[in-house]
Amino acid sequence: IKKQIIKAEKLQVVSHLAASFGHELRNPICVSKGFLQLLLEKEVSLEKRLEYARTALDELDHAESVIKDYLTFAKPQVVTKQTLDLQDEVKKAVEIVSAMANMNNIQIKFTKPTVITNRGMVEGERNYLHQCLLNILKNGIEAMPKGGILSVEIFALEHIIGVRISDTGIGMSKDQIKHLGEPYFSLKQKGTGLGMMAVFNIVKSMKGQVKVESELGKGTAFSLLFPCPSSVLKEEKIG
Ligand code: ADP
Ligand code: MG
Repeated sequence: IKKQIIKAEKLQVVSHLAASFGHELRNPICVSKGFLQLLLEKEVSLEKRLEYARTALDELDHAESVIKDYLTFAKPQVVTKQTLDLQDEVKKAVEIVSAMANMNNIQIKFTKPTVITNRGMVEGERNYLHQCLLNILKNGIEAMPKGGILSVEIFALEHIIGVRISDTGIGMSKDQIKHLGEPYFSLKQKGTGLGMMAVFNIVKSMKGQVKVESELGKGTAFSLLFPCPSSVLKEEKIG
């Protein structure tokens, strides 16, 4: 419990920091700027120039990843909650990553239930939900460097609608699972460790839950469970 509290506090601190997350971007941008300046020096060999250009690009790549994983918090726009069709939003997110999956020899299997209770609606901000789904889908793809299957399944329980995203990738140990969602926890060479933090924050803001199942060498499944929006429940009572 203590650990959970610390984790929650950490998340809160980061949420507050999020408004000024530019700090996380300043570093790679300054470094790449420095290397670009070196490129302009007269007495530099071609070999060195290439090295400088590559370093600058790597740093900018990192900055781009930070923005992509963390985008929602960078936008100080007003958050407008909408009633969204989970299935439609999941489909859109899957479309966005399908090229990335193809390139990596990954087959995407999309399944949906025949009957959906509560019309499959969730309440949230569309961009946030997209960000959340993309971060999970991307992690799934990145967990399968040799290819595999990415299954995306919509499921419906009585007052809950959910999506389960599973991969046949490298999986996680119990210890790794514990650290999921902690800012900057990443085992990837070019990771940001911000993607899962965004996922947990977004799902929490939608009053949902994240369930993780994972086994080293076998794969990982993330399930997102969302309550039926009260507006929909009310309508059904009336109707
Ligand atoms: P990043 O992807 O930049 O490393 P994330 O916050 O998205 O940061 O993920 C944090 C870490 O959680 C990853 O580095 C990885 O170790 C682990 N992880 C997340 N999703 C998966 C997955 N589907 N399979 C295996 N490990 C995962
Ligand atoms: Mg990630």
